[in-house]
Amino acid sequence: MSLTRLLDRFLAYVKIDSQADFRAKTYPSSPGQLLVGQLLLQELHAMGLEEAYQDKNGLVYALIPGNPKAPAIALVAHVDTSPESPGGGVLPQVISRYDGTDIVLQGSKKVLSPSRYPELSAYCGKTLITSDGTTLLGADDKAGVAVIMEAAQRLLEQPLNHGPVMLLFTCDEEIGHGVDHVDIEQLAVACAYTLDGGPSGELDIATFSADRAEVTFTGINLHPSIGKGKMINAVRLGGIFLDRLPRHILSPETTEGREGFIHPYEIQGGVAQTRISLLLRDFQASALDQQEAMLQTLAREIETEFPGAKVEVTRHIQYRNMAEGMAREPRAVTLAEQAMKNAGVVPNLTWVRGGTDGSRLTERGLPTPNIFCGEHNAHSLDEWCCLEEMEESVLTVLELVKLWAKERR
Ligand SMILES: [Zn+2]
Repeated sequence: MSLTRLLDRFLAYVKIDSQADFRAKTYPSSPGQLLVGQLLLQELHAMGLEEAYQDKNGLVYALIPGNPKAPAIALVAHVDTSPESPGGGVLPQVISRYDGTDIVLQGSKKVLSPSRYPELSAYCGKTLITSDGTTLLGADDKAGVAVIMEAAQRLLEQPLNHGPVMLLFTCDEEIGHGVDHVDIEQLAVACAYTLDGGPSGELDIATFSADRAEVTFTGINLHPSIGKGKMINAVRLGGIFLDRLPRHILSPETTEGREGFIHPYEIQGGVAQTRISLLLRDFQASALDQQEAMLQTLAREIETEFPGAKVEVTRHIQYRNMAEGMAREPRAVTLAEQAMKNAGVVPNLTWVRGGTDGSRLTERGLPTPNIFCGEHNAHSLDEWCCLEEMEESVLTVLELVKLWAKERR
């Protein structure tokens, strides 16, 4: 029964187009995010939660009141979906008792195949949900939204001892603005959990530390017919710079696990001025200083070789490894691990080669690990999720709430 309700919720949420839009000047970046928020608000009110509201930025907050002696915690998911694949008009396909063979995506006639994705074989007998192949599914993060909503309803239906639980549904996570408008003081919780992860047991406790660098090459532009001895071509300087960056180490193409990288991802400009944007990534924030030093060294080299050229490196902070901030509330991780065990799930502590809303919240002083909710192949037309994993996520959340009720502030 409750599995059906969980599935129905999920299907209702994915059908609303709430794709984030990089180009938009508004917050949230697309009106569909407000619509998802309104639906959630209606459902929360229908559950009997009086302290639920959507703020002026579209974020939805709700408080499930509980024993005030226990520490309050927050459960967080984002309502937007990735702009990296088409995201409007999602037509979900539900595959009950998956038989381990190719899944035909009816819209594109492409297949989701265990030969390409061997992990599918482990899901025989389970209920899988895909899109029709012409859009992403949006399980990232509507699986998390559905898990939180279902857990909230069960908490209200079968009261168990729990402390105050805040629910928070954010917007525009996929374009890096998920927690821009989150008021941590107002949340007033000991820690938070994002529900925005992969297979059963995944517990993200560390993320990259991340900065962005811009390298600006200023040359001297004049007509090519009279360039001899005078022209300094910034396009060429940029090419030399890129060529001198390490490629066989320290690049996304050649690193994995706990290795960091420098990733040039955008180049624009002309003869007079060219700019290259790079991502700096490592699990140690101090390693980002070394990466910047490397860029500065290359910049000085080129300036020396091309007198008159200017090469300027600027660095902008993006986010920091959540592990650094987790020390503030170590129970955030230990209780999540225990909750998984209590729910019959084997915890798999994971280091994420990226960032999450949780890394930003943690950096701002609110420890926020990320808990699995059954998302697979996020951001792609091959996205799918598993209903039984979503259910395990709900059970984990309920166990987590029970464990926190035994703690004291
Ligand atoms: Zn997500």
